[in-house]
Amino acid sequence: MERKRFALGDVVQMKKPHPCGTNAWKVIRMGMDIRIKCTGCGHSVLMPRSRFEKRLKKVLVPAAEQESTNGDV
Ligand SMILES: [Zn+2]
Repeated sequence: MERKRFALGDVVQMKKPHPCGTNAWKVIRMGMDIRIKCTGCGHSVLMPRSRFEKRLKKVLVPAAEQESTNGDV
């Protein structure tokens, strides 16, 4: 079974977009629960890691590649 890789600070795409129309979320907390923040409206969602992994579609922008876009979260 494939296990998705993600890291703190990654911008990820989920299987379902946020109702605001944006489908780019920034991982702002890693632990037993994952907190992601919608990059469109700033709404943040906390969910268990297992649910996050199920809903994660792909990593759009790895944290390591965001040096130029230093967004304050
Ligand atoms: Zn949103």
